Amino acid sequence: MTDQKRFMKEAIRQAKKAEALEEVPIGCVIVYEGKIIARGYNRRNTDRNTLSHAELNAIRKASKKLGDWRLEGCTMYVTLEPCQMCSGALVQSRIDEVVIGCMNAKAGCAGSVMNLLQVEGFNHQVKITQGVLEEECSTMLSDFFKRLREKKKQEKATRKLEQERLEAKE
Ligand SMILES: [Zn+2]
Repeated sequence: MTDQKRFMKEAIRQAKKAEALEEVPIGCVIVYEGKIIARGYNRRNTDRNTLSHAELNAIRKASKKLGDWRLEGCTMYVTLEPCQMCSGALVQSRIDEVVIGCMNAKAGCAGSVMNLLQVEGFNHQVKITQGVLEEECSTMLSDFFKRLREKKKQEKATRKLEQERLEAKE
């Protein structure tokens, strides 16, 4: 297995931690000099905080580890294309490269909706590599949303059944 795939596998493992908390499964790792120095996963609902995206959680940890807000020489591996907030933070962090599992047509800001990582007018551009373990990353998300829809359907059916029972008693 290539290093890229190995690091993406670890990002997927992080995403599964989000999934275990019933969060949308998104995970990432930050690599410096061939080693993982930070990990992050989506905790938006758990933390009740819009800032708790996987990427921001990992950036915070990487900066703490390096003792520097600059993440020069680092590469992020993330299962899903970053949003506008995280792409902005990645440019601000001066990270070298972002390796993406699957793209996000509806909200991605590394080329899908727009490409915030490579705006010429800014003082830093981030190299983008996409499609690493793409299938695995995208199936993980579609399976999650499928299960969520089924769960909601089931809850609705249960509620209807309870309602009918109550009405039958009246
Ligand atoms: Zn984000």
